[in-house]
Amino acid sequence: MNREKILGPLDTANEDDHSLRPKKMGEMVGQREVYERLMIAVDAARKREEPLGHILFDGPPGLGKTTFATCIPRELEVPIEMATGASLRAPKDLLPYLTNLQEKSVLFIDEIHRIPTAVEEYLYTAMEDYRIDLILGEGVNARTLNMSLKPFTLIGATTRAGMLTGPLRDRFQFREHLNFYTDQELTEIVKRNAVKLKMEIDDVSALEIARRSRSTPRIANNRLRCVRDYSTAKENGQLNPEITLKALEMWEVDTLGLDRLDRKYLETIARVFMGGPAGIEAIGHTMNVALDTLTDEVEPFLLRSELVIRTPRGRMVTQKGLDHLGINDISLPDQKEAQDPETDSDG
Ligand code: ADP
Repeated sequence: MNREKILGPLDTANEDDHSLRPKKMGEMVGQREVYERLMIAVDAARKREEPLGHILFDGPPGLGKTTFATCIPRELEVPIEMATGASLRAPKDLLPYLTNLQEKSVLFIDEIHRIPTAVEEYLYTAMEDYRIDLILGEGVNARTLNMSLKPFTLIGATTRAGMLTGPLRDRFQFREHLNFYTDQELTEIVKRNAVKLKMEIDDVSALEIARRSRSTPRIANNRLRCVRDYSTAKENGQLNPEITLKALEMWEVDTLGLDRLDRKYLETIARVFMGGPAGIEAIGHTMNVALDTLTDEVEPFLLRSELVIRTPRGRMVTQKGLDHLGINDISLPDQKEAQDPETDSDG
């Protein structure tokens, strides 16, 4: 089961992302170093009239990988083709994208870690020499067809940079890791998006939504919409800090921004596995949640907040995690001992 099935579409990427997504890089908040480096690269490519070097973005979901990927072609004033790694199952699936490319245009592949090796190998020559060598037919009748492509820019996005093969990773000229956002940056995003949603929001409410958004713009957008819905349905469209708190509580978003799924994850390690260490697969099976959902969407923030730690023997909830859940009848095993690499069993 994935997060969407558990929490409904409110806590996942959805088509509304589109309406709130910045259109230009200058409209993006935060990620200043990434922004500066990319603006220089964009400017240089424009001046030299060359395609921009290939770019790889990595980081947890909802931090702005797609936003950067869609803003860059606008800065360059070139078209963009969008594909997802999971839909490129065979080399032939790449063909329409590659042959549609125009000079200096951008091909964006989201979840690029999902493309199979056979497809990845075609990308190597496409990225390096702007050419693909297709093998047509089989056995003695097989022929190679060399096709040249227009010089283009590949932008890849991944939540799992570690799953990319070395040869693919090395072909990206720019590799940018997106970090979580500060509360101030998220507050700014909440305020700007409230304007786009035609809401009036006070500073205290905007900060409260930001604080409870797990340092992630997409989650801030979702929380903002939840608050707006609550205000429309229950408060005649009025909004103040008190109403904002009531709305967030109704949606079961706690003071750290954890939602039901995050808390269930922590509770499972605490109650079922006595604090851990517990293997991620065992946790996933117990919760009936897909492993990808846990590793990509739930764990990054919980690890960063030190509510849980990863050891070679599995995940362990920390004292801070137990305190947050209000659990005081469990004594945690020695976390140092669990970190002993000799007793490795889980990744
Ligand atoms: P990812 O591709 O990393 O999963 P997205 O780029 O789709 O994340 O971001 C999700 C939403 O979050 C966007 O639609 C946008 O509204 C908001 N967002 C992300 N990054 C920023 C940013 N730097 N500034 C403003 N809004 C942002």
